[in-house]
Amino acid sequence: VPTIPLSAHRSRGAAILAVGALTAGPLVGCSSAPATEPGTATVTTTTTVPATTTTVPAAIDTIDVERYDLDLVYSVADRLLAGTASLEVIVTDAAAPLTLQLRGPRATAVRVDGAQAQFRQSAGDLVITPAGTVTDGTHLAVQVDYEGTMGTPKDANGTAYGWIATPDGAQVLSQPDGAPTWYPVHDTLTDKASYDIHVSVPQGLTAVANGELTGEKDSGGRTTWSWHAAEPMTAYLATVSIGDYTLTTQTGPGGLPILNAVDRDLDAQTASDITAALELQPTILDFLVRTWGPYPFSTSGAIVDDDRLDYALETQTRPIYASYLDDSTLTHELAHQWFGDSVGIATWQDIWLNEGFATYSEWLWSAEQSWGQSVQASAEDAAARPADDPFWAVTIAAPTRAQLFDRAVYERGALTLHALRELIGDDAFWAVARAWASSNAGGTVTTAEFEGLATQESGTDLTAFFRTWIHSAGKPDLAAGH
Ligand SMILES: [Zn+2]
Repeated sequence: VPTIPLSAHRSRGAAILAVGALTAGPLVGCSSAPATEPGTATVTTTTTVPATTTTVPAAIDTIDVERYDLDLVYSVADRLLAGTASLEVIVTDAAAPLTLQLRGPRATAVRVDGAQAQFRQSAGDLVITPAGTVTDGTHLAVQVDYEGTMGTPKDANGTAYGWIATPDGAQVLSQPDGAPTWYPVHDTLTDKASYDIHVSVPQGLTAVANGELTGEKDSGGRTTWSWHAAEPMTAYLATVSIGDYTLTTQTGPGGLPILNAVDRDLDAQTASDITAALELQPTILDFLVRTWGPYPFSTSGAIVDDDRLDYALETQTRPIYASYLDDSTLTHELAHQWFGDSVGIATWQDIWLNEGFATYSEWLWSAEQSWGQSVQASAEDAAARPADDPFWAVTIAAPTRAQLFDRAVYERGALTLHALRELIGDDAFWAVARAWASSNAGGTVTTAEFEGLATQESGTDLTAFFRTWIHSAGKPDLAAGH
């Protein structure tokens, strides 16, 4: 199975991320999009796509993973990760080799339905030969033992991603294709799965992952933290963060449980700023629910570490933030829970849908604050760049690898939504947005599907509009809307 080219994007956090971040001091994660492109890591990858490539090859789905159960043991001092990954797999193309992605850690044993299986690992792929007969539709229990010494993988832009070893633990931000640096995975955007993640760490440290905390067991000087993420999740959104965290809880809209992990080693001023920002989290979630519809998951929260990540990432149910945190960044990453996480994208070229909605959410949030500016003013700020600014040279629905995390993808994505709203009117716009979030919850989407929904809900031929705003480079006339 081909992996997604590295380029994918990260909203990645980091790299990906930060698109927006460019302006601000610390990069804000995703919110900021990174100027960099994520992509290649130092690790080997199976596919090399030139940065100028205009298309991102789609992964070939020959299996469908329903569930991952990851049992991880991490030694902070020597950065050694030992894992057993148990996957529930449905074969969808029995003619293709059974292939997972695993880059860095080495597989040491593979079992299929309890029987030892032959395997070979090379160029980031783990190719498994089950002993028994496999046909389309066959369900397999695949178990992989693996281990590796962890470091700091880099994406194509040189941004740290994947499993990043830190002095007091680890952080995991895998956009776009960093997941194989820490577990054997079917690393495609369209194969979502549920996860159980168990992490054994030296006693005194906390391991945080996605979803709900289901257990915390001490034994032999170590603590095993267990997390259950029931709702379908794309590989790059899975995370584990290990450190000296204080866990705090809040309650969001409708009784939504919020669980935050904040590093105890932050300096007093930073800690105070972060506490103040996180206090807004229930209010921001309530705002987003009123704006986009019901929160798509059963839990929420934040992970804030003192290590020097310069971006945030919308890891599912529990975004990771750098130690610079403000309400705009929170709004951005939490909006991604609707757009990017629940409504996933089918290819990285559709990333403007994630970043456009997240950035537009920042504009909408700002407009509600006493200190903020109107959405129109935010749009005009973004559009104020002269026509020859490179910002307008990006075709946002067809970014090259190098442009995946370009701020144009973020801000022109938001501008496109604003221009659409002006063209079709508030009633149709909000109908489109809410239908987009609700009808695609838990799934994956394409740009063409968004165009189709907007056309249908508005009763308007939007061919020229989308050609101008997302399928072409060049500065549109914002006032004209199209
Ligand atoms: Zn983002």
